[in-house]
Order: sequence, then C-alpha cells, then structure tokens
Amino acid sequence: MDDRAPDDAAGALLARLQAGDSIPAVTSVLEIPAMPKRVGSWPSWAPTEVRQALAGIGIQELYPHQSEAADDLWHARHVALATGTASGKSIAYLLPAMSAMCDAPPGREPTLLYISPTKALARDQLRRMEELHFPALRCAAYDGDSPPEERRWARRHANVVVTNPDMLHRGILPRHEAWVAFLRRLRFVVVDEFHTYRGVLGSHLAAVLRRLRRVAEHYGAQPTFLGASATIADPGMTLSQMIGVPAKGITHDQAARGRTTLAIWQPRARSWPHSGPGPPAKASLISETSELLAQLVGQGVRTLAFVRSRRAAEVVAARTQRILDDRAPHLSERVASYRSGYLPEERRELEVRLRDGLLLGLAATSALELGIDVAGVDAVLIAGWPGTRASLRQRMGRAGRGLQPSLAIFIPDDDPLDSFLASHPEQILAESEGIVLDPDNPYVLAGHLCAAAAEIPINEEDATCWFGPEAPGLLETLQERGFLRRRRAAWFWVRPQRPADLVDIRGSNAEPVSVIEEDTARLIASVDAGAADRTVHEGAVYTHQGADHLIVGYSPEDCVAMARRTALPYSTQALTDSETRIRRVEDSQDWGAVGVRFGTVEVNSTVVGFLKRRQRTGEVIGREPLDMARHTLTTRAVWWEIPSEVLEAADIEAMDVGGAAHGAEHAAIGMLPLLAQCDRWDIGGLSTERHPDTGHCTIFVYDGQAGGAGFARRGYLSAQKWLTSTVQAVASCPCESGCPSCIQSPKCGNGNEPLDKAAAIRLLNAVLASAPR
Ligand SMILES: [Zn+2]
Ligand SMILES: [Zn+2]
Repeated sequence: MDDRAPDDAAGALLARLQAGDSIPAVTSVLEIPAMPKRVGSWPSWAPTEVRQALAGIGIQELYPHQSEAADDLWHARHVALATGTASGKSIAYLLPAMSAMCDAPPGREPTLLYISPTKALARDQLRRMEELHFPALRCAAYDGDSPPEERRWARRHANVVVTNPDMLHRGILPRHEAWVAFLRRLRFVVVDEFHTYRGVLGSHLAAVLRRLRRVAEHYGAQPTFLGASATIADPGMTLSQMIGVPAKGITHDQAARGRTTLAIWQPRARSWPHSGPGPPAKASLISETSELLAQLVGQGVRTLAFVRSRRAAEVVAARTQRILDDRAPHLSERVASYRSGYLPEERRELEVRLRDGLLLGLAATSALELGIDVAGVDAVLIAGWPGTRASLRQRMGRAGRGLQPSLAIFIPDDDPLDSFLASHPEQILAESEGIVLDPDNPYVLAGHLCAAAAEIPINEEDATCWFGPEAPGLLETLQERGFLRRRRAAWFWVRPQRPADLVDIRGSNAEPVSVIEEDTARLIASVDAGAADRTVHEGAVYTHQGADHLIVGYSPEDCVAMARRTALPYSTQALTDSETRIRRVEDSQDWGAVGVRFGTVEVNSTVVGFLKRRQRTGEVIGREPLDMARHTLTTRAVWWEIPSEVLEAADIEAMDVGGAAHGAEHAAIGMLPLLAQCDRWDIGGLSTERHPDTGHCTIFVYDGQAGGAGFARRGYLSAQKWLTSTVQAVASCPCESGCPSCIQSPKCGNGNEPLDKAAAIRLLNAVLASAPR
C-alpha cells in the first residue's frame, strides 16, 4: 500500500480548509497509525454451518481479539471486550451463541439476552442477526415499541432477545414467571456499549444485572457475560463491578484500519467579552463548525459533525445550509441533522442516505456515536470535547472506509477541559478514562432490593451474596419504613404497586418540570427537577429553539413553568445560597498541613435571586431577589482543608482567599472529567474561606446525585493528578484575570464572584507543594 498519498490527502484537505487565513487555525496534528491486517484462528468448536453463515455476510476471517473473546465466552469465562468502532465486537458473541445453538436439539437451544443502551442500537443488532439467515437463530426485540403479539412470541419462542436495561428492569424481571422457558436456558448475556453506563446509571445497571443473575439461578441457569465497550481503562474491572463476579478484559484492538489524522482547530476570532464575567459565548463554536462543514461539503467530502446538544445539531445543519445557499445552492439539501428523538424511520432514512452518499453533511449528537452502522464517511468534525477519550475515539472511528485514511478535526469549546486538551494535545490520545460507578450506593440499591424481594423473597444470605455487605442493613431499614415485611427468614414485598415502577434507572425520581408556552398552551420543553429552580424560576429567560422566553410563572409543586415568547436584551443567571455540612469522613490523607478528605456531606441550597446580563457583553444590568424553597442533598464529596499558614506562605492575603478558593474550585470541577467519565454538570462544588466544620479554608467537590455517583471518590483517589492538571489548565490560559476556559463556570451560583486567577494558581501550587512526592 502506498503510504504517502493518503497522508497527503488529509494534509492537502487541511491546507485547503485553511487557505486564505493568515493565522493558521490548526494548532496541532496527531496521527493514529494504520493497523495492518492480523488474522486470528477459527476456534475448533465452531461448526462449519456457522462459518458458512458468517461468510454469507462477508466474514471470512476473524481478528485475534474476536477469536479470543469468542473462546472465552464459549468456555464460560466472563469477558469485557473494549475495542474500537467497527472492530467486529458482535462476532465475538454471535460465533459462540450460534455454535451452541447448532449443537442443541431444536427447541432446547441455549438462549442469549442482548442488552443495549438504546432502542435504536438494539434494533440495528436485530436487523444484522436476521441478515445472517441462520435457521437456529430465532431473534426478537423486546422494547417499548414491540407490539403485544411480538412480545408473546419473544417470551415463548425466541432464543435471542434484544432489549434495553429499562425493559429488563420493568418488563422482564418482574414477570420472570412468563419467561421461564427463556431464562432456564440462558447461557449468554451481552451488555453492549457498557461504557455508557456511568455514574448513577451504572450503579442501577449493576443492580439490574445482579437481579438478572439471581432470577436466572433460580431457574438453574448461570449465564456467561460478554461486555462490549469503547476503549476504556480496565474494562475487566468495570464489567466485574457491574455483574458482581470477576471478568477478564481484552483491549488489544486488532481490527485493520487506515491511518487517521486528528487536527486540533482553534478558531482565530474567538472573541470573549472582556467587560466582565458572563455566560460563555457558545455561538462561535457553532458558527465555526457550520463554516467547516460547509467547506467540506462544498468540496464533496462526506462529513459528520458531532455537536453537544440536540439544538446545536439543528442549528449547525441550518447554518450550513444557509452558507451553502450562497455558495453552492445545489448542495444545501444534501445537509441534514441527526439526533435522538427522531422516529426510527426518519433515522433509518438518514442512515441510508448517508451510506449511499446522497447526504454529504450530517450534524449529529451522540445518538450517532453508538454502534449504528454508518462507518465510512471521509471526515469527522468534533465540536467541543465529547466528555471522554472513549467517546472521542468512537466519533473518530466513524471516519474512514476500510483501509483508507481519514481526517478528524477537534474544535475546542470555551471551557477549562477543552482548552487544557487543546494546549496539551498529547493528553488527547492518552489512555482512556476509567468508568466510575458505585454498586453499593444505598439510594440506588434500596429500590432494587424491593424489586428483588418482589421477584423472589430475599433472605439475608441471598442479599449479601448478590447485593453486597450493605444489603442486609438496608433490608431492615426498608422493613421499618413499611416497604418490606419479614416472614421467617425472608423479606417480602407487601405494597400493592410494583416496586420496579418506583425506580427510575435513568436517574432522578422527581418528576421533570414542564415548560408551557402561555399563548398556545403548548409544551415546549421539560426541565430536570434538580435544575428547574435555577433555570425556570419566575423572571428567568429560557431559550428554546433559538427563541427567548420569559418565565412568567413557576410552580415547583405542580412541576409547571409558564413561558411567554418575547425578545429580550438580556439573559439571566440564578444566584444560589449554599452551605455544606460534613456528616462523615470516610477516607483521609494529609499532605503536610493540608488535609485531603473523602466522605458524606449534606449540601443545602436555595435559589435566592438572579442576575440580568446584557446579551453579547455579559455585563450585569440588574439583580432581582427570589424567595424559593431550600433543598437538601446528602451525597459524597472530596475536599481540601487548607490552613491559614499555608495560604500566608503562598502570599495569599486574607481578602483574596475567597477568590482564590472559588477559582480553584471551578477549575477543579472543570477538570474532573479528565479522570472520571462524568461531565461538569454531574458534579457540584463549594468553597469557603473558613468552614465551620473544619475551621479552615475548605474546597468541596461533590457528586450531584443523592448517595453519590463515584466521581468524587475517583477525584479523591487521583487527587494529585487531578490538581496538577487543574493548575496547568489555569496557568496556561492566556486570559488576564479569568475566563470560561479557566476559572469561570457557566453554572456558578454566585455569578462568578469573587474570582482571583493569580491567587487561585498560588493556592493550587501551595496545596500541590505539600503533597507527598
Ligand atoms: Zn482564562
Ligand atoms: Zn462558583
């Protein structure tokens, strides 16, 4: 293969994109080398008819990672396969499953349960299995879209069922008696894209999978699990945490692929209002992305642009079309947007149009990131850091056809993590973050213990064995609260409703707030209950589909906010009054005089008012008080206790301590996603000059979910690494006194005041200097 020409192709394309600009926009170029073809051996246990069926869909050879994982699964070893996009992970479970089905008498075949994070991906897998035309495979989908007759058929006749965690939790497990035929023969369970179950969702999935293992064992089955994921650190450990038994990890991706060039594109004229703090100027990221997409489409380059929100996907597509209307009107209809929320038929049509080359440009959200079959575009734009390296690699993996080289462009947004990565490009392709989950979170476990007790009454030994050492204590508590009743040795569910209906595995149990348009009574959006006080309080400016709405009424009790559509010259930012009390220190290290702690805290907060900021400049033009309810969150936190002698030695005067600690807190929150797969909205923080419980200046960073999500703990365990990158990010930011790329935060409840960049750097350096070497 000629290696030069492909390189030149990506380079030439980049050069063309930059033509005419005096300051180059590309600040670094990274290369991911091509992977030559390697071939694994076919396992001796695979019957000829299975190999023939796979040959029928073009699989003549196996990659080494496929043979290894297939062999593990066949021999009942739980295995986590963490390799790239289009590395053929499904063959690793189809090969042993089809082989096992061939061996068995008809009607007595072993069964396979496939669990996917999204309905779309599950349906895609189902379609691919059907394309095998393998008589022993009887596949069915069991999800919210399946009609009753299909569900009945699935329960009685299918030996492969594709579903999602929600259906497993609400549909299959509570009605396990109806699934006896399937569960009794359950030999394989596939958890696809398991890197997406992070934080509290991961803790829920862990509980659901333990319930599944328990119910299966009740029917005499002990299934083997295969977890498939994007490249993450230590996949075997993560899968073990999810299923509760040891699993092996396979991370050597040996799928053949062409070279990928990753360019970091730093827009030139990213002007930020220097007149003071304010919400970040997101518009420039969107316009830069639209411009690049238009240029690539204009050159006939098939391109996917990944953006962070549904709305951004629509705006980028619309702007790109508008740019093309001027330059190349015949191309503008070959650009579209793709996001979750579209109907399955709409999505399928977009996928097909893209594959066939009818579409040249597609602006997409992460909905397109998971295993859906659209590999094979020429270039990928990644607008804003996707949150994790695993996700970046998934998106990059969408570019490139076979062994052809491909181009990916990362366009950083205005926030600490994006800026840090843009100036430390070697970090971008470093080892992926680990998945953080906490299977012992009592807030998560309680509901699942009720569900498990309703499925099959649970005794103490059972509880410890399946749900860990905390479970028996929780059962006692649930009995005291009247959810469970103990009879002889076991606990029973005694309430009329189904416990599975009380647990929402997607997160908060609180009902979201509906935002209703006043004139039309139309529902325009729903806002997460936890964020509603901050975003749809009376007087808030709420932007929806690019249009400003003034919130004219908000009733938290009824979960409703009324919005009036009107153009306003300002945006709003909520002000909160928060305090943190330490409930229990669970782990502790001393860095010289500085204390680093992990434990349980109680965060009390109230929205006390809001600022009005002039659009564009961010200048504060008004301040209004609000009288709202106080909320208490009991969660896990990591914190630093910094005595005054450390601050004095670092030349931080008493009046600057608040601004130093506040700046360090914001930056640390912005950087935690580098270590744990979370985003800055999953965590919160608080800093005080002198905290009543510690007597010192204290900086807290806490999990945003009751009971904790594991992120703060990960921060505690990697505290030194975390603060080191935090201080680097702040110190390397070219701004003078703080900006959204370093110490300002878009969710600050104090209007980003006080903040002192220079003192924050001195504080972080002083804390790090006390750390053990
Ligand atoms: Zn800055
Ligand atoms: Zn703040």
